[in-house]
Amino acid sequence: MEQSFLAWLRGRLRSLPGVAVGIGDDAAIIDCPPGRQLVATTDAIIDRVDFVTGEHALADIGVKAMMINLSDIAAMGATPTAALVTLALPTQAIQDGAVTRGGATETAAAVYEGILQAAERFGVAIAGGDLSVYDGPLSITITLLGTAPTGAGWLRCGAVEGDHLIVTGPLGGSLLGRHLNPRPRLDLVEPLRGCADVHAAIDISDGFSLDLDRLCAASGVGAEIDTAAIPIHPDAVTRSETSGTTPLDHALGDGEDFELILALSDDDWKRFQAAYPDTELTAVGRFIGRTGLWSRGDRGLRRMLASGFIHGGQRRTDGEGDT
Ligand SMILES: [Mg+2]
Repeated sequence: MEQSFLAWLRGRLRSLPGVAVGIGDDAAIIDCPPGRQLVATTDAIIDRVDFVTGEHALADIGVKAMMINLSDIAAMGATPTAALVTLALPTQAIQDGAVTRGGATETAAAVYEGILQAAERFGVAIAGGDLSVYDGPLSITITLLGTAPTGAGWLRCGAVEGDHLIVTGPLGGSLLGRHLNPRPRLDLVEPLRGCADVHAAIDISDGFSLDLDRLCAASGVGAEIDTAAIPIHPDAVTRSETSGTTPLDHALGDGEDFELILALSDDDWKRFQAAYPDTELTAVGRFIGRTGLWSRGDRGLRRMLASGFIHGGQRRTDGEGDT
């Protein structure tokens, strides 16, 4: 199967600068421009753990597998270059919308439709990967490579007391569909680099408060959140109509928003706002010396759970989802 599929795939790939040797040799060779460092991330998604074949189209799952990696590259302040794609394909037929895909090759081609679409959109080359067929669930592992200026990758650990807590877009309710085709915030990397020294960054995969808690833990600070300033996505409002939870709790806890949380100095935040007056970036609080997440709302200052719930509710048990 592998030979004919690779021939098909090679016909579909565009060659991009930066990949000196792509698919077809024992390994890929990728350029790293002078003054930049290689940034690498990987994420595996598996049927019945991260998606459900039959409910989600295989091409959409392929798109998502790329987007979650692209979001991690954006969170590092990096630019993506090339992806290595590893598919573990079930021998059994897969229900793909109205179609039943009987062979592993057909499944691979359907998943690749989405991967290629996302790769094209963000100028990423598919530089290699692996295919295997086995008696198990569909699994898609993408390793994404990118570059960032040497010594200037955005880490989780640089937030300092007094920094503004910035969120890059509206939050909550992603399960209504945005979770399948998220928008990695690569568009913000160059604008931010142009006028700010980003002290710390993380992308929101498991929920604003949980990912903020991770950034705070890495930086050794806490955060005071102005809950009235949190940009709430209309999907969070829609979800709240049937969930019994407030739109704010959806915005704080839902996850898979793939927006970024940033720590910026006051000067840098002012400079960014002056350069981009129509920005959807929003200051939603400050990093503080006292650890923990604190919400400042109309009932004063209250401790917030990293699960995203301010007042009780159920606690999420997700682990650290990615590298
Ligand atoms: Mg991440």
